[in-house]
Amino acid sequence: MASIRDLKGVGSAACNLLEKLHLFSTDDLLFHLPRDYEDRSTIVAMNQLSVGRSYLLEGEVQSIDFPSGKRKSMAILLQDDFGKVTLRFYHIYKALIDQFNLGQRIRLFGEVRIGARGLEVYHPEILPLHVLNKHSRLTAIYPSTEGLTQKKLRDYIQQAFDQHSDDLTELLPKEFSTTYSLKNALSYIHHPPLDANMQQLMQGQHPAQQRLILEELISHQLSLLTRRAYLQHTASACCKPSTHFSHALLSTLPFSLTRAQQRVSEEILHDLQQNKPMLRLVQGDVGAGKTLVAAIAACHALESGWQVALMAPTEILAEQHYLNFKRWLEPLDIQVSWLSGKQKGKARHLAETAIQHGIANMVIGTHALFQNSVIFKQLGLVIIDEQHRFGVDQRLALRDKGANSTTPHQLIMTATPIPRTLAMSAYGDLDTSIIDELPPGRTPIQTVTVPLDRREDVLQRIAKNCAEGKQAYWVCTLVEQSESLDAQAAEATYLDIQTRFPQLHVGLVHGKMKATEKQAVMQAFKRNELQLLIATTVIEVGVDVPNASLMIIENAERLGLSQLHQLRGRVGRGAQASFCVLMYKSPLSQHGQERLSILKQSNDGFIIAEKDLQIRGPGELLGTKQTGDLGFKVANLERDQYLLHQAQHIAQQLIQQNPQTVDALLQRWLPHAPRYAYV
Ligand code: ADP
Ligand code: MG
Repeated sequence: MASIRDLKGVGSAACNLLEKLHLFSTDDLLFHLPRDYEDRSTIVAMNQLSVGRSYLLEGEVQSIDFPSGKRKSMAILLQDDFGKVTLRFYHIYKALIDQFNLGQRIRLFGEVRIGARGLEVYHPEILPLHVLNKHSRLTAIYPSTEGLTQKKLRDYIQQAFDQHSDDLTELLPKEFSTTYSLKNALSYIHHPPLDANMQQLMQGQHPAQQRLILEELISHQLSLLTRRAYLQHTASACCKPSTHFSHALLSTLPFSLTRAQQRVSEEILHDLQQNKPMLRLVQGDVGAGKTLVAAIAACHALESGWQVALMAPTEILAEQHYLNFKRWLEPLDIQVSWLSGKQKGKARHLAETAIQHGIANMVIGTHALFQNSVIFKQLGLVIIDEQHRFGVDQRLALRDKGANSTTPHQLIMTATPIPRTLAMSAYGDLDTSIIDELPPGRTPIQTVTVPLDRREDVLQRIAKNCAEGKQAYWVCTLVEQSESLDAQAAEATYLDIQTRFPQLHVGLVHGKMKATEKQAVMQAFKRNELQLLIATTVIEVGVDVPNASLMIIENAERLGLSQLHQLRGRVGRGAQASFCVLMYKSPLSQHGQERLSILKQSNDGFIIAEKDLQIRGPGELLGTKQTGDLGFKVANLERDQYLLHQAQHIAQQLIQQNPQTVDALLQRWLPHAPRYAYV
């Protein structure tokens, strides 16, 4: 496999850009597939356009004007025999204006969108009339990044193809490469003929694409199968059932375990006693009491003399676990320690030393836990909270921290139900337990939807409720999904509310604040010193303040249903009636109304996830991060689920009948994943 640097025109600047797209080798380029195609060979009639696609258009200029609006622009109405389109220019200069005259014929290429005047093309490429078209194939449009033009990217991919496509060996059994060899499949996808079935291509269902997708899915299954087989043969941190710690812990609680908590605890204990490492996913709706189940699991490992690590995705959540576990375990003489990325210098050194010498028994922290400098003396159990925030690689990194060639047991807790087909591919190596019961005494949350133009009413009502002693969350999200902009919005809301309701105690948390500041605010809210907490979605996971009973979410229509359900789950934890107000920007589309009404109708995370899956597809459930971390080059789990079973079947066959190709397939499709010998 050759380096990208050997291609003509690729210097270090281009390399950096390509790296952003995870393109490192010429093979990576070959498998970097188009996200769309342009047809520059045919002029399309203006009544045949679909929004979001690019076309070659030709028509006569009907009008030229400069509408007044927020942004200055030039609008040119163009008409052909079938319809009209407006060309819109925001960047206006004399030479551009001079190009257009009333009644003149114009040919252009550009993407059609919905604008203020209906179908519009922003800043089209103006092309000469009467020039014969040289394009005999469709032109590929690739996923790219700022600073890397389609033209350059296309050129690099072409070079990679010309120089290296002959080196590609067929790795699948013959019956899969009869219609398309690997090289022909790639050639077809990068340069489809003009008469190609576009619908098939755009849906990833052309046989040339299926040929590649199947090969990739097979390779992923091979990776999971070999990893699982390998792990089943490593020694684990075998535990005895805890007789002392767990009973002592349970006896201090003011409540007893739910039946579901008991059942799942037993399933975990069964695994911990085995001489092969546990890999168990615990799913349970928000508020189901997963933390306690984790603590009981920790008791078994701790009493057997092992260290336990608990990792949470955010500082706030890790801190909350730290305080809980300290309260529960320190009376039992178990040292509970804290490790976070923000810890520097001496404090960090002390924490790491205690972990290395086994003085710290129970270690709680964030991503910092799996850095190389953190060495455990005898790590026996790894607990990961809210798994969907972590990638598979990070999960593996902690698993490799076991001592003396033992592999720690792993317990993963998530509130996001994962559909079976997805679980099979993303977590093919996990067993699953479900906590399907909430602790008694919860009153269901009432959810209402309110248009944003009634924001002021809502604000007045909330202020009044807070003044009467209730506690509320106010979550700010913006149209653009950016923590930095959300933080600004939250800050503005915070300042506004503070000035207008000076008698209220208001707090603010967002992702741009220092961890210590965030924690201080959260703790003050928990102690009921603040009645109203303005926040961004950083509070989404896990934070537990039982007295809070009001949740207001701005721009709710922008968030995924599962995410909204998680946010809403911050209230309804105490005995008092709780409310959730979803504010949306009107008008709300049919689709948007349907989505929000699901939340009004159901408080059950599993039902919500299922509906969400029907409406939006699985990407959202797993979180883009996670699906990204699965590292697919051509396959797309949402789109290609229907091929999973076949892929799994072929993978098993290959391991048995053709083990020599397994490594080559893994090298081609998962070059950076850890490799395990099949035993
Ligand atoms: P999650 O599953 O969302 O992580 P938590 O573990 O944070 O839920 O638990 C939510 C709340 O329920 C906590 O305040 C916890 O103390 C309480 N809780 C847990 N188990 C029980 C139980 N069996 N009975 C009553 N309350 C419980
Ligand atoms: Mg939790």
